[in-house]
Amino acid sequence: MALVNVHFLNLQNNYLFADIAKKVNAFKVMHPKADVISLGIGDVTQPLCPAVIEAMHKATDEMSTAEGFHGYGPEQGYAFLREAILKNDFLPRGIHLDIDEVFINDGAKSDTGNIQELLHWDNFIGVTDPIYPVYIDSNVMIGRCGTFEDGRWTNVVYMPCTAENGFTPSIPKDRHMDVIYLCYPNNPTGTVITKQELRKWVNYALKNDALILYDAAYQAYIRDPEIPRSIYEIRGARKCAIEFHSYSKTAGFTGVRCGYTIVPKDLTVADFEGNRHSVHQLWNRRQCTKFNGASYISQRAAEAIYTPEGKVQIQATIDYYMENARKMLDTLRSLGYEVYGGENAPYIWLKTPEGTTSWQFFEALLYGANVVCTPGVGFGPSGEGYVRFTAFGSHETTEEALNRIKNWTKQH
Ligand SMILES: *Cc1c(COP(=O)(O)O)cnc(C)c1O
Repeated sequence: MALVNVHFLNLQNNYLFADIAKKVNAFKVMHPKADVISLGIGDVTQPLCPAVIEAMHKATDEMSTAEGFHGYGPEQGYAFLREAILKNDFLPRGIHLDIDEVFINDGAKSDTGNIQELLHWDNFIGVTDPIYPVYIDSNVMIGRCGTFEDGRWTNVVYMPCTAENGFTPSIPKDRHMDVIYLCYPNNPTGTVITKQELRKWVNYALKNDALILYDAAYQAYIRDPEIPRSIYEIRGARKCAIEFHSYSKTAGFTGVRCGYTIVPKDLTVADFEGNRHSVHQLWNRRQCTKFNGASYISQRAAEAIYTPEGKVQIQATIDYYMENARKMLDTLRSLGYEVYGGENAPYIWLKTPEGTTSWQFFEALLYGANVVCTPGVGFGPSGEGYVRFTAFGSHETTEEALNRIKNWTKQH
């Protein structure tokens, strides 16, 4: 008899974006003529840059000849890309990594979800709240989170990030954490962490023998030079942190699929006898067993964003989205809304007016302005009373959405 992994049955069935789609569809059925603009889902809209397209064409042509054909590549990724990463993403910030500490993947979602396989089932995990749902759900799948009560998992430590604490989580004194997920710039709040605050986390991890899983998917959106782009800018992080990167938001690779994970060789985890084990070796073993590498064409595409042309072109697209973010902040603030993020990240986090829940605001905006946002409570209990807007639209649709929000707000 094939028995089910019962932990899957504990997952909260309704996935946030499916719920939103259902509500939007219901609206469209009732209002077939309405033109709905989505500032909801976190997908990009602008095309791949010319340097990437050229590299993909070239790689495709290579694959069409016997000499240029590439079959299975190294599970850890091709050296040409791993070298480009070290040289461009880390060395300029004074971070020295070995090439084999870079693991190329097919996007950061896979690795942020898979990494927990290396860890014993009863580690206590901590998350900033609200947060990207993958971190918790992937732990629920192996039974690490306890039971779901009042919108929270009993064995997860939630660290609230709200306007009241400036979206800076404090480290709880009364609850122990073995594994901590941090995501900066943050999805969904669009806020960032200073070096000083990040140092507190690294020091906590070193002192408590905890592991930090640091998601840097939005580092390319950081404009303030004082804000860290990598946790390895903090001394000691090599001993306690894994870092995830993605080309999805950096270069529009949501449909291409490529990213990378840094697993430093100094990082170890304990067994019950107190012996230490290299996380690098464990992850390498895991990848060689379960992963056959990202596609050659995707890796050549990623390499192209590190060329001088590629750098200029991807920056132009990031600037394009950040111009949307600026307009959104300006307009929403001038309408009297309390808004956060949007300065070093492509997300705007809006506090809903007093007494309005995330879902109530979502519905009112959908029906009143035909604009879709994402209810903050879908990212965790502390997201209640907020909604997320993304800056990934075109200038035209973003402007139109803002005009509608303006008219709708003034009618109230
Ligand atoms: C979009 C996103 C990712 C990237 O996912 P990919 O699989 O690389 O497309 C990772 N983490 C967060 C928080 C994200 O929002």
